[in-house]
Amino acid sequence: MLFDSHAHINNYDMTPQMVAELAALIEESDVDLVTDIGYDLPSSKVAAENAARFPWCYAAVGVHPHDTDDMDEMTLYMIKSLASKEKVQAIGEIGLDFHYDNSLRENQRKWFREQIKLANELKMPIVIHSREADQETMDILKEEGAFSDERKSWFPKRPDPSGFCKGSAGETEDARVLIHCFSGSAELAQQYVRLGATISVAGPVTYKNNRKTVAAVSVLPIDFLLVETDSPFLAPEPLRGKRNVPMNVEYTAKRVAAIKNMEYEDVARITKANAMRFYGINE
Ligand SMILES: [Zn+2]
Repeated sequence: MLFDSHAHINNYDMTPQMVAELAALIEESDVDLVTDIGYDLPSSKVAAENAARFPWCYAAVGVHPHDTDDMDEMTLYMIKSLASKEKVQAIGEIGLDFHYDNSLRENQRKWFREQIKLANELKMPIVIHSREADQETMDILKEEGAFSDERKSWFPKRPDPSGFCKGSAGETEDARVLIHCFSGSAELAQQYVRLGATISVAGPVTYKNNRKTVAAVSVLPIDFLLVETDSPFLAPEPLRGKRNVPMNVEYTAKRVAAIKNMEYEDVARITKANAMRFYGINE
């Protein structure tokens, strides 16, 4: 019933035994599908392996802004070859992180651009990480054609029953760009969706003082929202501070249901369908 659209089952500290135990728990839970998201070359390889191994697992491959100081042309080439593997559905997570600045900003920008170019070359969905870099993330996405008409022409249109994008009920263009763990304003969320992006929210939407993400969820129709854990990070309330797992996506979906005054089952079903469409998964 649930799709955790962004997790790191591939996290560097996951032992084979931890992966096996986690897989068993996922298989017993209400989580039907998980996308395992790469953040560097080794984790991208593991994500692709996990996708090949587990029926419920899909993968994204890419280099996170934190890891771009170590990136080179060979890394990009290896990411490209991983992207062609079966059940690897997207390039990501890529973007900018000016909060931690773990890599030089010039390297973050360079490899963000190169990986958007790669996603365009391969006509693949893009998973974006953006922290304290709202404007520059948007500018680079636009400059590299992530919202171009050409890119939108590669993907089927998506439903827009409330007429949020076009002003009347029907369908709207899909650029297959996902802003993961969205932390921006309601205005930015609206701007992104109207450009063709999709917004994903994680555990922080359950945190007591997080009015900003609540506002963004309130203004967006459910048709443009995904839910995720970003596990093992960002455990939702009431598990905040613990190691996060994909099953906890339920707390985020329940919080979204409460914010939008919807039934939890409807939020679970619709966000799962949205995530399957975003990642191009047909089941
Ligand atoms: Zn992540």
